[in-house]
Amino acid sequence: ISHVADLDASKLTVTLSETLKPIPPPDTWQFGNIMTDHMVVAEFDPETGWSDPEIKPRAPLSIDPASSCVQYGTTVFEGMKAYVGPDGETRLFRPDMNMARLARSAERMALPPFSTDQVLALIKQLIVVDRRWIPLLSEHSMYIRPTLMGTRMGLSVAASDHATLCIFLSPTGPYFRSGGKSISVLAVFDTVRAWPGGTGGHKVALNYSPGFLPLRTAQKQGYDQILWLLGDDMKVTEAGAMNIFIIVRRDDGDVDLFTPPLDGTILPGVTRDSVLALAEAHTAGEITLPGLQKTSRIHASERTFTMDDLSRWSSDGKLLEAFGAGTAVIITSIGKIGFKGENIILPEHKSGLGPIANAFRTRILDIQEGKEVWKNWGVV
Ligand code: PMP
Repeated sequence: ISHVADLDASKLTVTLSETLKPIPPPDTWQFGNIMTDHMVVAEFDPETGWSDPEIKPRAPLSIDPASSCVQYGTTVFEGMKAYVGPDGETRLFRPDMNMARLARSAERMALPPFSTDQVLALIKQLIVVDRRWIPLLSEHSMYIRPTLMGTRMGLSVAASDHATLCIFLSPTGPYFRSGGKSISVLAVFDTVRAWPGGTGGHKVALNYSPGFLPLRTAQKQGYDQILWLLGDDMKVTEAGAMNIFIIVRRDDGDVDLFTPPLDGTILPGVTRDSVLALAEAHTAGEITLPGLQKTSRIHASERTFTMDDLSRWSSDGKLLEAFGAGTAVIITSIGKIGFKGENIILPEHKSGLGPIANAFRTRILDIQEGKEVWKNWGVV
């Protein structure tokens, strides 16, 4: 039992900004470029525990250059969204999953513990304060970035016993403004995103920066994102910062939905889990995914597949769709996979989204915007 103070949202103090920023027109927003007026800050000190959290005008933090997060990358974060539905209510989508993942990420970086229900309570308070930034437009939402940083000052190579929690908000519009468009990915095997025993299954900042150089190289070759491979057998793992799914036609006329298993190298995505659950409910007859009345059954399984598998299914005409799933984009179809100088080209679909990708995307967005209710996924 700890003798220091836990994070306590009931002790929140709120200092509102004296001047509110003008909100730029939503059609000029790009993902993560615009920030709202306020932020949450709380600090952990090993003697006293968590400070009383504050909501205050958004401003730079003061961090010592010798602090743990600057020197050793002890930063973990979450990415989640709040949506305003046609009923005017603001909803979070499965926030418990993000909170559980934040706690796991913090633990992996040996950062101080906190009550996730208190973090969630603080997120809700901040959204209430900055609610005017969420437009009443479909596909627009508030991206939420809870961030925990190790702030111990000193160069010894060890866990940070000080931390700062900061939560801030960025309003976002549809990821692709021109409507549905499929993306291209370059399959990369000479650099890896994650490896057995590493941190790929956690949302830690140090997973992302090593991918920036390979991404720049891929983009110079005309690809949008990287398809991360692993191992001599070229196992497919993730696409950019998204989980990957493929649809393969079966001999009995049904389709298989495959995504790699959570073996520690794959981030356990909230969208990934939602796609698997909706596929199971569709196949069990509990729901009908939009536009898929005639598609009999989608057999979802978490299984390993390799580049050889993809090439073979593609040349046999069985590879019907590939898509990435993640909070920012929800679902995006993959139209082209580059590998060793050749391209696997997926069947083209009019909207840019394959029919099954589109079915998942539509249903998830409807739940996020409160147009559909499913389990307790939409939290008002
Ligand atoms: N993989 C990685 C590496 C990611 O950063 C993300 C985004 N959090 C995802 C997958 C998708 O996860 P989620 O559906 O929870 O956004």
